[in-house]
Amino acid sequence: MTETPVISEILQRAAGGGRISPEEALLLYTDAPFHELGEAADTVRRRRYPDNIVTYIIDRNINYTNVCVTACKFCAFYRAPKHAEGWTHSTEEILRRCAEAVELGATQVMLQGGHHPDFGVEYYEELFSAVHSAFPDLVIHSIGPSEVLHMAKVSGVSIDEAITRIKAAGLASIAGAGAEMLPARPRRAIAPLKESGERWLEVMAAAHRLGVSSTATMMMGTGETNAERIEHLRLIRDVQDLAVGNGYEGSFRSFIPWTYQPENNHLKGRTQATSLEYLRLIAVARLFFDNVDHLQSSWLTTGKDVGQVSLHMGVDDLGSIMLEENVISSAGARHRSRLTELVQMIRDADRVPAQRDTEYRHMRVHWTPADDPTDERVQSHFSSIALPGGGAGRSLPLTPVNS
Ligand code: SF4
Repeated sequence: MTETPVISEILQRAAGGGRISPEEALLLYTDAPFHELGEAADTVRRRRYPDNIVTYIIDRNINYTNVCVTACKFCAFYRAPKHAEGWTHSTEEILRRCAEAVELGATQVMLQGGHHPDFGVEYYEELFSAVHSAFPDLVIHSIGPSEVLHMAKVSGVSIDEAITRIKAAGLASIAGAGAEMLPARPRRAIAPLKESGERWLEVMAAAHRLGVSSTATMMMGTGETNAERIEHLRLIRDVQDLAVGNGYEGSFRSFIPWTYQPENNHLKGRTQATSLEYLRLIAVARLFFDNVDHLQSSWLTTGKDVGQVSLHMGVDDLGSIMLEENVISSAGARHRSRLTELVQMIRDADRVPAQRDTEYRHMRVHWTPADDPTDERVQSHFSSIALPGGGAGRSLPLTPVNS
């Protein structure tokens, strides 16, 4: 059998909902014709979402501190303890930002921050319960396994206890942050002080067992091999198999790959993931993850054009408008959007736009252009991190969108 019939058979099987092996996924990633790969992935999307709906969410990423002891080489956001540019926002400042987000229609908040040496479970309990009491309808989809491990270590408690306590305080969902590259070699190269990929997955598996769902991410472009990219997918699929097989209440809701941004960090270099590589990975992910419902692309790091093309490669969600985002923006992501523009992008790709909540329930389907949102204030903003004190007290909009 020649290579082409082998690839055709794998594409056909995956498009039909059959499981493909990591070796087959790698073959598709490196060798499958681009259009056939995209078509197979889009077949899966159409079967899963025959209503042709592509979703988005309105949320705000609020950073409570940029102080961090972990010093990841790719990170432009953190400052070491005692650094003059380090800051920690008060609970009042975080609540003020939540209130602005709610005013602009946000349904979710992503509270993210560095590994502050003093922040144990108690800090997160207080923060989450303050946000949850003030805004009970604002879903706290926040932190990541790295923060869970850090807080458990600071407080001297188990992973299970940390998760149980922050869940009780109001955490509804764990963000896929910190996955970067899960295989050991590329992870050690870019984040030697961060927990291992196994530990990241262990926390996610524990969260799922304890009834907290999450998302899974991947940062491409720091020098990892094609095989390591596919290995990253395999590790996530195996943990999802565990959740599904054991009937856990929690699981990964979506997979979200994004591309490394090279500015202002110690890794520098350049993003070693081209748009084509990104789109191929997106399509392979849709075919490989027969057990993960949603696939989100990252227009923030790849740009709106690539984001729109991804809608033809199996993607069913464009993620958030991000009323505020500082971490990836600090490293050079310059793409910004208005909500009206994001919705038009979805419509121009011949999909039906819909606002979703954290659980991917449709809140508002824009069946016709007459149903489209019109509030031009709902837009993403430049980083507030460049401002002294992390921009404390500054109101949205921090800067206008120019595009
Ligand atoms: S990526 Fe997170 S853990 Fe790593 S240095 Fe930045 S803030 Fe700290």
